[in-house]
Amino acid sequence: MPGKIQVLPDSISKAIAAGEVVERPASVIKELVENSIDAGSTEVVVEIRMGGLNLIRVQDNGEGIEPEDLPLALQRYATSKLKRLEDLYQITTLGFRGEALPSIASVSKMTIKTRVRNSINGTKIICEGGVIKNISSIGCPVGTEIEVRNLFYNVPVKRKFLKSIPTELRQSLNHFIRLSLSHPTIYFKLIHEGRILQEHLGTDSLKIRIESVLGREAWEQMRPFEFEDGEIRVSGFMSLPTFSKRTADGIYLYVNQRGIRDRVLYKAILEAYRQLLPVGRYPVVVLFIFLPPSGVDINVHPTKAEVKFKDQERVYQVVVRALRSTHESIPRYEEAKGLKRPLELKEESLSSFIEKPSLFHSLSRSCDEKEIFPSSEEFKSEKVGGIPRIIGQVRGTYIICEDERGIFFIDQHAAHERILFERFKREMEERSFSINQFLVPITLEFSAEESLLLVAYLERFHWMGFEIDPIGKGVFALRSIPSFFDPEEAKELISHILEELAFISKGDTMKGVIDTILVTMACHSAIRGNFLLRREEIEELVKSIYPFDLSMTCPHGRPIFFFIREEELVKQFKRSSH
Ligand code: ADP
Ligand code: MG
Repeated sequence: MPGKIQVLPDSISKAIAAGEVVERPASVIKELVENSIDAGSTEVVVEIRMGGLNLIRVQDNGEGIEPEDLPLALQRYATSKLKRLEDLYQITTLGFRGEALPSIASVSKMTIKTRVRNSINGTKIICEGGVIKNISSIGCPVGTEIEVRNLFYNVPVKRKFLKSIPTELRQSLNHFIRLSLSHPTIYFKLIHEGRILQEHLGTDSLKIRIESVLGREAWEQMRPFEFEDGEIRVSGFMSLPTFSKRTADGIYLYVNQRGIRDRVLYKAILEAYRQLLPVGRYPVVVLFIFLPPSGVDINVHPTKAEVKFKDQERVYQVVVRALRSTHESIPRYEEAKGLKRPLELKEESLSSFIEKPSLFHSLSRSCDEKEIFPSSEEFKSEKVGGIPRIIGQVRGTYIICEDERGIFFIDQHAAHERILFERFKREMEERSFSINQFLVPITLEFSAEESLLLVAYLERFHWMGFEIDPIGKGVFALRSIPSFFDPEEAKELISHILEELAFISKGDTMKGVIDTILVTMACHSAIRGNFLLRREEIEELVKSIYPFDLSMTCPHGRPIFFFIREEELVKQFKRSSH
């Protein structure tokens, strides 16, 4: 009897969008875990070392591979999942091209141990650089264990192009998370260097899986949705407008349980959140689209990360409607909970805004006036104590003042950010900042991705006054913070810093890391736009940055000033002849 795996005839293999599937350790993990899922496993354990460069081991309890099939599994275009060209349009498995195992085997040292249920013995195959070295019969549990060692050992160029171990690990974690979210009934475990990074018990409830994967905070801020339109069904969980991220990384898209990226779907999601989120913030959404396999072509991308819908416009509309109708059904008070209103900032935290003499003490007042202009009396007074004459604040966001050079428009947030950045930097360098040590440590919970980053940068945090100890999976004890921050803000501040640190790349120096933290601290504490300032506060702010250096930007690189020269006014009003 022929085995299950067959080499695809030329006619089919040519129709398959073949491509390079192995780019980095994360792609190996994705392919191997997908195979385990396709094999009907209920348990999948992934173990990696050195971010996957030294070792990736995926063990499952799926159907296993027949002994006579095993060498075939390592051959290109050999698959048990596709037999006829027509099947390509009815695929329900994650794999179908028969490419992953041979591609991975050709760039690593691979060992497979596998046993099918009705056999007493298992089979082991050893392969090096794609060449089979040995096949033997062994005892092993039902299922498959694939071990990939020394990835790219024979392709040094590829190895060189890999990023740092933490970056590679993060990518792997990301694939692992995506697959865990779409298959809640399967038990998943991820171990790195002997430490359990993720462990998810099998459950029928997507909600429970979301809590386990994305963490309690995200889970508390997410609501279910479900929507149907003809043959298209959309369901999942979406964040309330009070919970958002700096990147679109919290958007998980699936089509028929296959994780995908799709620009149009991202757009649909952002459209549904339009005007609900501040500019530059993204929601967290786990979105499943189910439609007949014939309504979507999954064979358009080398790593199958993208798909093509037959009726893209309709899918777009269904997604927008699904999310919008859920927003509309969420009671407003729920949205308002936890919403931080800038005008309710605390006195203490504001007094430390700007250097002594302390300024911005009682800002808790409403912003009902749109603009402040000086009284006629003030108008007469000339320069105050060596600073330019302040004209006022407009739109609660910009400060206008003048000196002999012309008129200056100042972005109060950008300016304050720069002042704080310089101050934090100086105090850090001089080690002159004070630290608020807690008698009882504050317990903080972070998602797996955040935890990974936090652990990687613990020492840096410590150096900057944040004493943080890991005490369990995703749980940390915060023992101190620099005293210019309110302990109540600590969680938000640290999350904010971690969001920024996720962008740091391998080449970044320690200084880069520290600057990133400083910038985030400054941005976090600086006064926002649309925030009325008192006259003394405006003066204090202006004084701290005077004389204006026109090339000065905020630490993110945005300008602080906008300047109109006197000559420009003269020209505009055609007064030059006078
Ligand atoms: P594809 O998944 O596209 O079929 P792969 O190269 O990933 O191609 O795998 C080749 C074949 O090896 C699969 O079709 C499947 O029959 C078998 N196989 C791979 N991994 C497993 C596993 N974990 N359990 C059972 N069978 C597997
Ligand atoms: Mg596969």
